[in-house]
Amino acid sequence: MSFSSDVKEELSRLIPKPVHCKSAELAAAMMFAGEIGIGTEEKKIIIRTEQVILAKKYFTLIKKIFGFNAVLNIRAQAGGQKSHQYSIILKKDEEVRQVLERVPVFSEDLLKEQILGRDCCRRAFIRGAFLAAGSMSNPGKSYHLEIVCRQPHQAQLLQEVIEGYDLPAKIARRKNRYIVYMKDSERIFDLLNLMEAYRASMELENVRIIKEMRNAANRQYNCDAANINKLVKAASKQIDDIRFLQEHMGLENLSPNLYEAAAARLEHPDVSLQELGNYLNPPVGKSGVNHRLRKIGAIADELRAKTEEQSQ
Ligand SMILES: [Zn+2]
Repeated sequence: MSFSSDVKEELSRLIPKPVHCKSAELAAAMMFAGEIGIGTEEKKIIIRTEQVILAKKYFTLIKKIFGFNAVLNIRAQAGGQKSHQYSIILKKDEEVRQVLERVPVFSEDLLKEQILGRDCCRRAFIRGAFLAAGSMSNPGKSYHLEIVCRQPHQAQLLQEVIEGYDLPAKIARRKNRYIVYMKDSERIFDLLNLMEAYRASMELENVRIIKEMRNAANRQYNCDAANINKLVKAASKQIDDIRFLQEHMGLENLSPNLYEAAAARLEHPDVSLQELGNYLNPPVGKSGVNHRLRKIGAIADELRAKTEEQSQ
C-alpha cells in the first residue's frame, strides 16, 4: 500500500460526531468527487470513488445526516481487473432536495455561511476534499501533497480555507484541472494533523527525522573524505619535494631543522602535520611543522626552476 492510500484509509475510518462536521465532509465529497444532475428532468447526486472504504464512509455520512440509504453501485473498471468504481447514488427527488438544502454546493456564499463557519467544519471540509480528490507522495521519496479540483473557483475556495490555518498552498493548472498543492514537509505535517490523520503525521515525522539524520551523516562523510583527500594531496607534494632535494642537493645540506622535518616526512608519509610534529625532537606544533615543510617546498621549487633553466 502506498503512503497516500494509508492516509486515506485512516481518514476514511474517521466519522465525525457532530452533524455539522458530517455535512462539511459530505459537501467536500460532492464538490470534489460528485456529479449533480440539475436542470435535467431527473435530478441525481452521484459521488464516485475507487475505494470501497470511502464509498462506505459516504454511505454512512448520508445515512447518519439524513436517515436514508443511498444506492451503492459497483462497476469493474475497464482494463483493470482489480480496481472498481463505486458510486453512491441519490435519485429520489425528495432526497436530492434535502441534501442540496443542507449542503448547498452550488452557492459559495451559502456554503461559507452554512458549512464553513466553524473551525471543526473547515477541517472536516479539507479532510473531505483530500479524501475525494487528494493524494500525497511517499515522504521517503519526496514531499508533495495535492488535491485535484475541476473548477478554478473550487481550487480558490479550498486554498482560502487551507490558508486560513496559516498554511500557504499553491495552485497549478494541469490540463483542464486545478491542483491545490504543497511541497513543504512541515506544512504537509500540519495539514495531516489538521485533517486528524494523526497516524500518518507521526509516520511522516519519523521518515523526516531518519532522512535528516542520514543527510547529516552524509555531509559528515563528504567532509571527512574531502579532508583526507586534501591531506593526501599535500603530503604527496611534500614527499615529491623532499625526494627532489634528496636527488639534486642531498638532504644533509638542509638546515638541521628542515632536515629533521624532511626525514620525518619520508618515514611517516601518511600522518597529519600535528602527528608529524610529535616525531620531531623536541616536538613541534602543527604550524611549526607546516612552516618547515613550506620552506622545504620553496627550496625545491627554486631548485627546480634553476635546473630547468640550465637544461634549456
Ligand atoms: Zn463542525
